[in-house]
Amino acid sequence: MHIHEYQAKTLFSQNNIKTPKGVLISDIKQSNKVCSELGGSVWVVKAQVHAGGRGKGGGVILCHSIGEVEDAAGKLLGTQLITPQTDAKGLPINQLLIEAGQNIERELYLGLLVDRQTQKITVLASTEGGIDIEKVAKEMPDKIIKFGIDPLGNLSAQDCTLIAEKLGLNAELTQQFNNTLLGLYEIFTTKDVNLIEINPLIVTQENQLLALDGKIDFDDNALYRHEDIMQLRDVSQEDEKENEASEYQLNYISLDGTIGCMVNGAGLAMATMDLIEHHGGSPANFLDVGGGTTAERVAKAFELIQTEANVSGILVNIFGGIVRCDLIAEGILQAIEKVGLNLPIVVRLEGTNAAAGLKLLDDSNVKIHTEADLTQAAIKIVALSKEEGK
Ligand code: GDP
Ligand code: MN
Repeated sequence: MHIHEYQAKTLFSQNNIKTPKGVLISDIKQSNKVCSELGGSVWVVKAQVHAGGRGKGGGVILCHSIGEVEDAAGKLLGTQLITPQTDAKGLPINQLLIEAGQNIERELYLGLLVDRQTQKITVLASTEGGIDIEKVAKEMPDKIIKFGIDPLGNLSAQDCTLIAEKLGLNAELTQQFNNTLLGLYEIFTTKDVNLIEINPLIVTQENQLLALDGKIDFDDNALYRHEDIMQLRDVSQEDEKENEASEYQLNYISLDGTIGCMVNGAGLAMATMDLIEHHGGSPANFLDVGGGTTAERVAKAFELIQTEANVSGILVNIFGGIVRCDLIAEGILQAIEKVGLNLPIVVRLEGTNAAAGLKLLDDSNVKIHTEADLTQAAIKIVALSKEEGK
């Protein structure tokens, strides 16, 4: 689960990490009062959306007067922000963070994640922070400092000092850096975080180290034990369909392709998507209906797939292990009766009672292409969906 920058910064402040003074607004009328409260003569208006690259997408606006702040707020609030990290639709801007502008001397990068290769929580740091850190990581990987933390130990002040040295920080800044990194580590380890990052972590002309941005991604599987973090969820930033699916215990992820997939088991779903690609098609979604599928869930899955605008064919691929294929076939027929069917569909059933299931579908008066072989099923749906798409 992602949270907003302003929420990350609240967590930062609670953990000894310094951030610029800022206030959250959701109405342009608040701009004037907020600017006076913050003082100074430079303000930064920042769109609060769950995506990076806001600077590049026009979601971070530097202002030199209250009038400019009002204009910026009016331009952003209530619109969709499109950045290199969002889809073409972008994300809704419901809130803005207005911050006191800073005199930036240097922009650093600092983050923590679990490095799966070394199986360690790893510090990532760079002198080349700012909006092009992805480019730095790709083109100048030696500019990224990596430090793996001993899983049996802890992150020590000496470790922090070592990294600060590599970043070329002086003694005063090193102390601030240690507080910052230890604060990040505290949040990371106590809140079950997947990724936490400050980009940029700035050095100001006044020799202050400040977190100018904040990004935190929490482990969904551990959210049950962090009531406080769960409160920070903002569903307006999430995919509507994916949320609807999760209410029915369906694992659903929208993709860009044209073939809707309904599969049981994540591994089988991935193999099915690969096979569709292999035969010249492209999947419109990843959908794992789970092991103990019910007719109701199958119906919901159908509904989700069919309302996706780009879908021009459906491939159902079910392996009956615990679940019986004839029951699945009944579920499919019930679902079609309930929500209708306006696209070509290929159903592949294998496993327990597969023959009985396929016969049920063949004997029905619904136009369903049945297949016992997965490769044949993939080839068939790719052809049918290309015809439909014309
Ligand atoms: P992101 O593009 O979504 O990562 O948004 P950031 O919060 O990182 O802001 C993007 C860029 O805006 C930063 O890298 C800074 O260069 C710039 N920026 C943000 N706040 C200030 C500020 O107070 N003063 C100045 N001069 N630039 C700022
Ligand atoms: Mn940033």
